[in-house]
Amino acid sequence: MLHPREFEPADTARYRARASCSKALESEGLPVQTASPGLRGALNGRRVKRIRRSFGCCAIAVWTALPALAEPPVPIFDAHLHYNAEAVAAYSVPVVLDILRRNNVRAILVTSTPNEGTRMLLAATSADLNVVPFVRPYRSDADRANWFRDPGTLTLLEAELGRGAYRGVGEFHVFGDDAAGEVIERVVDLATARELYLHAHCDERALELILRHNAAARVIWAHSGFSVPPERLERALERYPALRGELSYRYDMTSSGRLTAAWRRLLLRFPDRFVIGSDTWVNERWERYDEIIAWYRGWLADLPEDVAKAIAWSNAEAMFSAPMTRRAATQQP
Ligand SMILES: [Zn+2]
Repeated sequence: MLHPREFEPADTARYRARASCSKALESEGLPVQTASPGLRGALNGRRVKRIRRSFGCCAIAVWTALPALAEPPVPIFDAHLHYNAEAVAAYSVPVVLDILRRNNVRAILVTSTPNEGTRMLLAATSADLNVVPFVRPYRSDADRANWFRDPGTLTLLEAELGRGAYRGVGEFHVFGDDAAGEVIERVVDLATARELYLHAHCDERALELILRHNAAARVIWAHSGFSVPPERLERALERYPALRGELSYRYDMTSSGRLTAAWRRLLLRFPDRFVIGSDTWVNERWERYDEIIAWYRGWLADLPEDVAKAIAWSNAEAMFSAPMTRRAATQQP
């Protein structure tokens, strides 16, 4: 009896041979690489795939991959990571560290419901992984709808902040005039007095109110407003010089995997104002973590090397590398 593979048409066999060639490269741990050296090569696997396809030859593919040996992919600062109770139950800390390591994620801004998950990852800080913890004003998911009008929020924050180490408050959700109340005003003042960032998933109106409470507040705008179009995001970045935009779920940034012209222009105009994140708010996002980071690496490769590196790593790193002033670290508002 013939082996089933002997019935395959010639082009299928060629495809299989090429695929096994690529697999062999990947199993050797060879990073993807463009024809030209530099960060674009380290970021982007699409071009080497095109080269492999056009030459169809393992020898050429090996030759193009060789310079990449000295060039690991650019490190990522994941500035929007959750380790919620659901994830804690499904992904142990060593498994999480493996996921981060294989994506060359070397720093994380972590927040969770409840805050225990954040503390578990903080305890895993190492020379290979910088962990920046944010305190979340939620005891459970139910608090998401009420935290901004519940005086108990301040008690929760004070108790958590008393443990030290936190560099921000969030990610929290608030929309429209819900951001006008006294509780959120006190949260904004408390965070600002302690030099803590606010990681706000909010709309434009709530952003305006938060910064009206305290113009010195340092806000990371989760998802950069989620559905706020690039031209309105540009106005916000002009109006609030300290505002940072985080880019998870901004799938409007790309078309067929390439940056749109509007987003490219915006990123080039404000190269030091954006950070990236995975937003692992449900386990499905943990399952797709590799794909999410690959999406970032895909469009980062469309940017000049220094801009890509800033957005992938340096912007977030600069925000948290400076220690807080002694006054902020000890101040009790
Ligand atoms: Zn989130």
